[in-house]
Amino acid sequence: MDADVVVVGAGIAGLECARLLHARGVAVRVLEAADAVGGRVRTDRVDGFTLDRGFQLLNPAYPAVRERVDVAALDLRPFLPGVAVRRDDRLAVLADPRRAPLRLGRTLVDGVRSGLLSPRELVALARWVAPAVGPVDRLQARPDVTLARSLDAAGADGPLRHKVLEPFLAGVLAEDDGSTSASFVRLLVRSFLAGTPGVPAAGMAALPAQLAAGLPDVRLGVRVRQVERVAGGVRVHADDGVTTARAVVVATDAWSAEQLIGVPAPAARGLVTHWYATDEPPASLPAVVVDGRRRGPVVNAAVLSLVAPSYAPPGTHLVQATCLLPTGDGSAPAEPDVRHQAGEMLGADPTAWREIQRHAIPAAMPAQPPPLVVRRDVDLGDGVLVCGDHRDTASLQGALVSGRRAARAALRRVAGGVTAA
Ligand SMILES: Cc1cc2nc3c(=O)[nH]c(=O)nc-3n(C[C@H](O)[C@H](O)[C@H](O)COP(=O)(O)OP(=O)(O)OC[C@H]3O[C@@H](n4cnc5c(N)ncnc54)[C@H](O)[C@@H]3O)c2cc1C
Repeated sequence: MDADVVVVGAGIAGLECARLLHARGVAVRVLEAADAVGGRVRTDRVDGFTLDRGFQLLNPAYPAVRERVDVAALDLRPFLPGVAVRRDDRLAVLADPRRAPLRLGRTLVDGVRSGLLSPRELVALARWVAPAVGPVDRLQARPDVTLARSLDAAGADGPLRHKVLEPFLAGVLAEDDGSTSASFVRLLVRSFLAGTPGVPAAGMAALPAQLAAGLPDVRLGVRVRQVERVAGGVRVHADDGVTTARAVVVATDAWSAEQLIGVPAPAARGLVTHWYATDEPPASLPAVVVDGRRRGPVVNAAVLSLVAPSYAPPGTHLVQATCLLPTGDGSAPAEPDVRHQAGEMLGADPTAWREIQRHAIPAAMPAQPPPLVVRRDVDLGDGVLVCGDHRDTASLQGALVSGRRAARAALRRVAGGVTAA
């Protein structure tokens, strides 16, 4: 045997799996097709700017992050706990009064003046949120429906839903038709209420870099072509040759896993992020901004350099504008439309902004329709295991949990202390 366990894919799930196996003394080899670890969590450096591959955030309140990640070492730069909403006449800031008590006055004034807050809809949304703050097992046991149906059922049908919640969730779920599982969204909301998402000062890639540190056998630029079950183990056929092992964990994205081992893949949800450099700060708020008027393809915009100054060279600023891919009418968003709308959202003239990078990711995350299945099988038998966000929830939390579950199943397979020579 060349290894006890081969892990295919060095995304968050594969790294978490390999890390646990390595900590238990298992000889683990990681084969990764790309030129760096991280999978969908990568960061590019362009002209001194730090550009994550698609706008994404780390929520320190994810249970698996709390348990398994040294968040302090990531030097997380938090966004404003809340959201800024572009209205015709103003940017209304709706902040969580528990974590931003000094903003309570402005939140109330903005909310009422902009017509976003009404007692009737607040009560309806409180009714919708209630299961999210109760016990998780009770939330998961509830009959699940789509997000849209659950909001209808709670009687939430006003501006707070249509001009704040739905535009905000479109960027988080990579869909704007309300088709995602309501239970999944409530799990996300639960984490949003418990923690303030942010970005590591060095970029999101600091997360996989931390998970990969200490792994002795990670091979980059090696694509696995075939997984073969043989007596007593598996043969993994890759670009660099064949590795034999007691078990293989296929920790790729859902669509690659379908090709390699035949597990059915869900539909993919896509996002595209446009990154702009500018010399003038286009806003003064370290907030995620959504367009309450929904006047274009942009689902959220933010000035990253106000949140994490390390994302831009001194004297410059970094703006991101994210759209669904494809947009609602099936097309890719046109850059001039993105620039124009993002400028309006941030209250700035975008004419002089320089587009420095565009990250188009057609398979940003797996669709998560109802009913929510949070623990799909990871052990397919005969030494073939699978993990990734498609086995749990479409999130960093889901990827971490699935990696751990697969590691435990692989440990059972190699149990007895037999390790590769
Ligand atoms: C733009 C964007 C924004 C997001 N925002 C958030 C957010 O704010 N919060 C959140 O929780 N989640 C977010 N997500 C989702 C989150 O990033 C993913 O759920 C998570 O990273 C998935 O990790 P994974 O390990 O399951 O899969 P992946 O990251 O896809 O890792 C799979 C790895 O397998 C490798 N691979 C594939 N095929 C092969 C092969 N044949 N041989 C060898 N290697 C192979 C790939 O190169 C990749 O490195 C976002 C995702 C994107 C793209």
